[in-house]
Amino acid sequence: MLYLKTDEEVELLRQSHLLVSRTLAEIALYVKPGVTTLFLDKIAESFIRDHGAVPGFKGYAGFPSTLCTSVNDAIVHGFPSDYVLKEGDIVSVDCGVVLNGWNGDSAFTFPVGEIKEDVRRLLDYTRASLEEGVKEAVAGNRIGDISHAVQTKAESGGYTVVRELVGHGIGRKLHEQPEVPNYGKKGTGPKMKKGLVICIEPMVNLGKKETVQMRDGWTVKTIDGKPSAHFEYAVAVDKEKADVLTTFEFIDKVLNKM
Ligand code: MG
Ligand code: MG
Repeated sequence: MLYLKTDEEVELLRQSHLLVSRTLAEIALYVKPGVTTLFLDKIAESFIRDHGAVPGFKGYAGFPSTLCTSVNDAIVHGFPSDYVLKEGDIVSVDCGVVLNGWNGDSAFTFPVGEIKEDVRRLLDYTRASLEEGVKEAVAGNRIGDISHAVQTKAESGGYTVVRELVGHGIGRKLHEQPEVPNYGKKGTGPKMKKGLVICIEPMVNLGKKETVQMRDGWTVKTIDGKPSAHFEYAVAVDKEKADVLTTFEFIDKVLNKM
């Protein structure tokens, strides 16, 4: 069952994602060597509550925090801790909010200070693979068209795409149908219609594609200990082109000033 949103509902989802976009930009101000991921979590929670919303992940399936903070070889679902970020790390920050009953969910992988050239390139390719996926989120296309575009771009850089974790529909619930894999074949999967709102979220590894689940029950890491990057947008499928509800514009402004 694919739930199609009305124009009014898409506008509400836009507001939720605008708040996530602004929260991630607030986080961008604080990501630097010497800062703990728990500190980032506190900043995010205050910012979200100050804007009349509640954290979307906290308490979801028992998740303890406002943010998922996944450092270096952690792919996703890491939780904030007293880990102190250090020069050369990367940290994927995944943020959820609920505003007026509607979820927002987006992620950005931040460099901590100066990072190695090969890791910088991994971030660039992962973000570019997301943009390639977005281009396919058009009415009449199939989910597999997005999956194929993401995979093709990521693999063209020599990287691998995580199979176990996928994007998803979003709305009043954080995770709705359909699943949006980051790998697949063109012309397969559910057909998209105007009003379908989905999160596209490539998780791309520098080394092998395989993952391991940590004993904390949440954190998923790369099997070979090499870094992984993660970027996530929510988009509303439309007739001519996708209506992107997330923006990295505010984050880019912060990062380019540093
Ligand atoms: Mg998501
Ligand atoms: Mg997310």
